[in-house]
Amino acid sequence: MIELTGSIHLHTGYSDGELYHDDLAAAAARAGLDFLIATDHNVYVSGINRWHEFPGGRRVLMLAGEEIHHQNRVPQKNHLLALGTGTDLGRLAPDPQALIDAVNASGGAAFLAHPYDPAAPLVHEQALGWVNWEVQGYAGLEIWNYMSEFKSYLHNRLEMLLYALMPSLAISGPDPETMATWDRLLAEGRRVAAVGGPDAHGHAYSMGPLRKVVFPYEYLFRAVTMHVLVERITGDAEADGRAIVDSLAKGRGWVAYDLPKSTRGFRFRAEGGAAGAGPGEDASFEPGMTLQAELPGRAEWRIIRAGHGTVGGGTGVKASVSAPGPGAYRLEARRRFRGRNRGWIFSNPVYLR
Ligand SMILES: [Zn+2]
Ligand SMILES: [Zn+2]
Repeated sequence: MIELTGSIHLHTGYSDGELYHDDLAAAAARAGLDFLIATDHNVYVSGINRWHEFPGGRRVLMLAGEEIHHQNRVPQKNHLLALGTGTDLGRLAPDPQALIDAVNASGGAAFLAHPYDPAAPLVHEQALGWVNWEVQGYAGLEIWNYMSEFKSYLHNRLEMLLYALMPSLAISGPDPETMATWDRLLAEGRRVAAVGGPDAHGHAYSMGPLRKVVFPYEYLFRAVTMHVLVERITGDAEADGRAIVDSLAKGRGWVAYDLPKSTRGFRFRAEGGAAGAGPGEDASFEPGMTLQAELPGRAEWRIIRAGHGTVGGGTGVKASVSAPGPGAYRLEARRRFRGRNRGWIFSNPVYLR
């Protein structure tokens, strides 16, 4: 399997972002990413799917996605990341189920963006969470949205100034309510993939005489990322894009905070049965099976069986616990950074049936 690192939630000048695709690909190359999925609000920008080549041999695959929401809804809710559709589906936004069905029919994958999102009155931001939980057929949840988490720390102007200058003092992990919802859905036997993204816009903010691009794209491309495992890369942008979206939809990978240390090389598997399985894969449960992980750096880890809580944990670069029964097993790792433990790796589940 080939490991690719990318950023899957960002906005360009086609909606409310600052930069366009060529500059974004260059920023991604500097940040060490392999792919980007641009998810402009209610616009599908066609003709941008291609590999960008950079000196030194680095290549970045740019892909078009779309973040769709019903623009006349009061209040504003239900942002959906539609990846790999190849077409604009914004007209279906008023009916979230019809929209998800159309994303699937187009061969794409739908993810509920920032499902629990706080309001931030200081910066005039509304709460944009998901409310229509009766929908079916979505591939997964955006468990960690960088901007959504940042909004949750803006209690007063002093905090806003501090965290705008030093966001890494604030950012520490996915929203607990989102994680609880994810575990509940997994415990019901559903397959729900986790993704994470920076929701990058590249905006500059002014506060008195101070004007600063608070979250440059390149900074965010080093922060909340997606790591996916794919069978092969061909060099054909459309085929490689399909392989990446397919891995995201199946959950063959993990959500990472690569700023403290790159999570490249992380591996998580169920072993001991007739066939092992990695994240997003199935294996039939057999007594004596273990869940094992290799961590690319020292971290505090725990393995969770959805609906049953933590089945084991520890500190180090290797993880191993025995699986007490069938279920969806996932790993979380936290690493010390800026004075305390911060979320580092949030693996998609291995499904033992
Ligand atoms: Zn959004
Ligand atoms: Zn967004």
